[in-house]
Amino acid sequence: MSARDVITDTSGTHLPVESRDLFSLIARNGAVSRSELERLSGSSRTTVVQRLGMLFNANLVRETEKVLPTGGRPSKLLSLNEEFALIAAVDVGESQTRVALTDLTPKILAEEVFATDLDDAPTSILEQIAACLERLLPQVGRPMDDVIGVGLCLPSRIDYKNARVFGPSVMHGWYDFDIRGWFRDRYDIQVFADNDVNLMALAEYKTYWPDEDCFFFIKAGTGIGGGFISCGEVYRGGRGAAADIGHIQLDLPNPPLCRCGKLGCLEAYSGGWAIARDLRAMGIEARNARDVINVVKRNVPEAIQLIRAAGKGFGEVTANVVSVLNPNLVVVGGTLAEAGEHLMAGIRELVNQRCLPLATQSLQIVKAKSGDRAGILGAAHLVFEEQLAGVGRCRVGERGHMAR
Ligand SMILES: [Zn+2]
Repeated sequence: MSARDVITDTSGTHLPVESRDLFSLIARNGAVSRSELERLSGSSRTTVVQRLGMLFNANLVRETEKVLPTGGRPSKLLSLNEEFALIAAVDVGESQTRVALTDLTPKILAEEVFATDLDDAPTSILEQIAACLERLLPQVGRPMDDVIGVGLCLPSRIDYKNARVFGPSVMHGWYDFDIRGWFRDRYDIQVFADNDVNLMALAEYKTYWPDEDCFFFIKAGTGIGGGFISCGEVYRGGRGAAADIGHIQLDLPNPPLCRCGKLGCLEAYSGGWAIARDLRAMGIEARNARDVINVVKRNVPEAIQLIRAAGKGFGEVTANVVSVLNPNLVVVGGTLAEAGEHLMAGIRELVNQRCLPLATQSLQIVKAKSGDRAGILGAAHLVFEEQLAGVGRCRVGERGHMAR
């Protein structure tokens, strides 16, 4: 019986459904005590002990070294066995693709990077991803059957339900391509795909801000994107286009033309490509967000002035987001965030100026902490949430939610 059989079988053949529900509670809540599990599941001690026995037998859970002071006999906290199965995480970028195998923490166990040209056919890139996975598995000494799902981080709008690229994007040849079917035909494995900004937001939340479950993430790069975490989950909206702030119009006297064909979009004013355009007009060579940051770091006054103005553009849009959604935290990531206070000052200024005190009095606006592995870690977290934690099924505080 493989790890994938146990995890993905919902019929109860390998593991009774009631034990699976208890497992989801442990996966979702981290280290928990037996008495906490009784409370969360609404089940009796005898029932919890019996179902836990099945999870121990299947090697799905383990006792941690942490002990809950109970006053009586010390009780070790329980957590899932992070080594039980693997996750395949893939971050497809505009110039390179990163493929990794992680445990359930998720910790990266092995990874490989290859150069990507998004003009290539999707089957060509997917073949390379599959070849990477088949090279990585022997490195960690595990079979493909131990991989419980593939998470794909893609630089495009995604129809999340169907795991397909949709709308105008840099992934021209991928529009409506059946990614899930492609993997199913080869490995009979479940695939989850999401937009890169949503997954960067998820990684940042899970890794650094697990207690701030309502936050807004901005990717300030050559292009601009947003991701919103609500009640601890990515909020995608009706078709997966939620928080796509790059093409919100600013109130500008001479609105610049955007890549989308509209006038005055945030991206046409504050995006890395727009700042590079303005630098070139001043005779300073720059093509993208990385070039802009390199010029800012040389303390070139024109570049600093442009990035400070860009910060106010971000601030104008962020103020509207804060007024509508009332996040506790705004996290700014992407290459332009490396400009630090030159960028952040304008965001803070506009948000504080335009929002009501109730929305701003406990609001933090900070730089992202995740590095260049945010996309791949977000993809691994996504598979974990979908396959193990039972998103939307078992939450802390929902007592008596499961069958007794
Ligand atoms: Zn636009």
